[in-house]
Amino acid sequence: MSSLPRLRLKKDLARHLRAGHPWIWRDALAPASLATGSIVDVHGPGGGFVARGLYDARSPIAVRVLALDPAVAVDESLVRARVSEALAARRGAFDPDDTDAFRLVNGEGDFLPGVVVDVYARVAVVRLDGEAPRALLPWVVEAVRETTAPLGVATVYERSRGGAGGLLAGDPPPVPVEIRECGVRFAVDVVHGQKTGGFLDQRDNRRAIRPFSDGEAVVNLFSYTGGFSVHAALAGAARVTSVDSAPAALDGARANFALNGLDPARHDFVCADAFRWIDEQRDRLRAGLVIVDPPSFAPSEKSLAHALAAYRELFAGALALVAPGGVLAASSCSSHVDLETFLGVLRDASAKARRPLRVLEARGQPPDHPTPPAFKEGRYLKFVLCRA
Ligand code: SAH
Repeated sequence: MSSLPRLRLKKDLARHLRAGHPWIWRDALAPASLATGSIVDVHGPGGGFVARGLYDARSPIAVRVLALDPAVAVDESLVRARVSEALAARRGAFDPDDTDAFRLVNGEGDFLPGVVVDVYARVAVVRLDGEAPRALLPWVVEAVRETTAPLGVATVYERSRGGAGGLLAGDPPPVPVEIRECGVRFAVDVVHGQKTGGFLDQRDNRRAIRPFSDGEAVVNLFSYTGGFSVHAALAGAARVTSVDSAPAALDGARANFALNGLDPARHDFVCADAFRWIDEQRDRLRAGLVIVDPPSFAPSEKSLAHALAAYRELFAGALALVAPGGVLAASSCSSHVDLETFLGVLRDASAKARRPLRVLEARGQPPDHPTPPAFKEGRYLKFVLCRA
């Protein structure tokens, strides 16, 4: 029998956990007082072992499951095995001949809950969700070093929420680090950029807008450093307008145009609030392709109604900028909004704007962002291409 602290479930969640859902909410457990980051055993109301996991004293997610087998020890070798399995599971997820930036570890989807590792060429960036996974960090760093050394990774750097971060191992990261994504060059600032520096989850969607860009005026709202914009310009867009409220993001976008041999002077970079900009352009601008990739409006279930109203407003406004017969690419990264709900938002936006829509394709996150089937919270990204 293990000597780990034991928590008891008030409800019988064994089936749910064995089906692969990796979270135990605090209200499902009898009260306990343990330190964040403790490895715990969770037992059912009847007493039998159900799961082993990481305890968080503060988050509403009290335990994140690491193992369903009591014989599995949570130690360095487990973490090493999971990181190396994660790398093996990236086979076929992208083409290493034209892409050297990818998500190596996708938290729960790679059985390392709360741990994200993004690789940008020679730099690996770790992002922890909450404080509990910090208990695994030294093992994660070693495992990432070992697993990625053959790929040429020379730096492990941390960028967690609330500013936690810094160099964890190896050389200080180059700022920016240059990567290739589907053959396109991007400069990524892993030290000052948003999240881990880039948004790898949109890689395949950036490529998916290319066929709709050729010869068109393209508007990219919430552009960040111009990921969609550069792809559109390289695919033959007549003029690309990138809009973001962060000046640094637009500087990055200009640099990324130049890096790919595109003259930034022939495109527009607008530092503005996207909602306000849409209102200003409503009676002026018409684009053959409008891409809208806002930050999450629904950080919690409670904010959902408000968020859905904001998405509806935004997409109705964006539709007013789409030329007749043009394409709207609408995205949401909120895990509280599932695809059906999101399509409902687009239906309402279409009615509000009086612009009938045809859904061409409903896309999600790429294969280097895997999730267990039972973990719907992990499938957060929606990307819907529609013709107006
Ligand atoms: N599409 C991008 C990622 C977008 S991230 C890519 O492919 O890389 C969301 C962006 O929205 C961030 O760059 C943030 O600065 C910007 N943003 C947030 N609120 C905004 C607002 N109200 N108006 C314009 N941009 C905003």
